[in-house]
Amino acid sequence: MEADFFIVGQGLAGTLLAFELISQKKKVIVFDDPQNTKASDVAAGLINPVVFRRMTKTALLDVAFSQMESTYQQLEDLLGEKFYFPGQILKLLNEESDLLWRNKVFANQLTDYISPNPIQPDQFEVLKSTYSIGLINKSGRIDLQNLICSFRKFLIERNLIYFEPFDYEKVAISTEYVYYKGHSAQKIIFCEGAAASKNPFFSKIQFKHSKGEVLDVTLPNVNINETVTDEVFLMPMGNDLFKVGATYSWEIQNCKTTEIGRSELLEKLKRITSVKPIVLNQLAGIRPTAHDRKPVVGLLSHCPQIGILNGLGSKGALLAPYCARLLSDVLTGNTTNIPGDINVTRYFKSI
Ligand SMILES: Cc1cc2nc3c(=O)[nH]c(=O)nc-3n(C[C@H](O)[C@H](O)[C@H](O)COP(=O)(O)OP(=O)(O)OC[C@H]3O[C@@H](n4cnc5c(N)ncnc54)[C@H](O)[C@@H]3O)c2cc1C
Repeated sequence: MEADFFIVGQGLAGTLLAFELISQKKKVIVFDDPQNTKASDVAAGLINPVVFRRMTKTALLDVAFSQMESTYQQLEDLLGEKFYFPGQILKLLNEESDLLWRNKVFANQLTDYISPNPIQPDQFEVLKSTYSIGLINKSGRIDLQNLICSFRKFLIERNLIYFEPFDYEKVAISTEYVYYKGHSAQKIIFCEGAAASKNPFFSKIQFKHSKGEVLDVTLPNVNINETVTDEVFLMPMGNDLFKVGATYSWEIQNCKTTEIGRSELLEKLKRITSVKPIVLNQLAGIRPTAHDRKPVVGLLSHCPQIGILNGLGSKGALLAPYCARLLSDVLTGNTTNIPGDINVTRYFKSI
């Protein structure tokens, strides 16, 4: 089969890139290994515009937020389902973080996203006593699992996806084409998440992935509509169901859930509410993260038939739409410019 682009991986990155290219009337063939674990399968999909430790904007926030809203809206229109649920975050503050919040809100131009003055906690009875609560107004969650599943059906119906592990040894590259198992395309883009560490074309990228675990719990009669965050987040999913997450670990032996992860989440949840949770499910995954925690986007300058969309870290729901649009604009000739700090070429300077 002849295509314009091969895409390897149909997690969030591969899904959004395929969507952008198909919207530009390009033909894609996607290869996805169903045996491989996806970070996107476990992600809570929370969109948080603020880095609380320093009270700064999340990197790329202003460009990424508007692209995010428009991309998920377009996907909802295409697939006829709802994926984006705008909402607020309540950040529990102590005396020190309350002061930092007030000091940084104007200095760091956060007023479009958060309320300048933290509120008194009295109105939230189910929350444990806290000094004050900061309100993040522009936030929400993306139902990544439903989005990816629904887009997969779209690809299957059009015969645009193969479910198999991609075999790097079977790729042949000429100056104009990429050949793979009887198919050809102009370029191949790898969207493999943490599995990219094993990709021989990208061995120069310094990845520093982190493993994360989340819990699905019920908390009877905790009537709260906002996501609450302290050391972990508590995200309402409706009908007394909540997601609690997430842990961070950089010593990754495997992708399995652990007793330590579960205890850590439950212990930290106790600082948010004293209501006793019933644990329904525990999930683990690996966040694909570059050493500088920035996305990795673009084509290899020494071999421009090969590209990558990766390094979405813990912010995929927010950053993936912006990065996918940027890369699709490069692939379709609408721009040549990917900012240096997120461009894959930062890892290939000596070639
Ligand atoms: C516990 C946890 C909680 C998280 N919570 C949030 C959150 O609340 N908000 C947020 O924005 N982000 C969150 N994230 C991060 C988010 O999951 C990632 O940023 C995002 O999902 C990464 O998407 P991806 O497509 O790059 O990678 P993945 O989702 O891992 O997808 C990679 C895909 O490539 C396929 N693949 C890999 N290699 C091959 C190959 N050789 N051949 C064929 N297919 C291949 C895999 O099968 C998979 O389908 C969380 C992550 C974790 C682990």
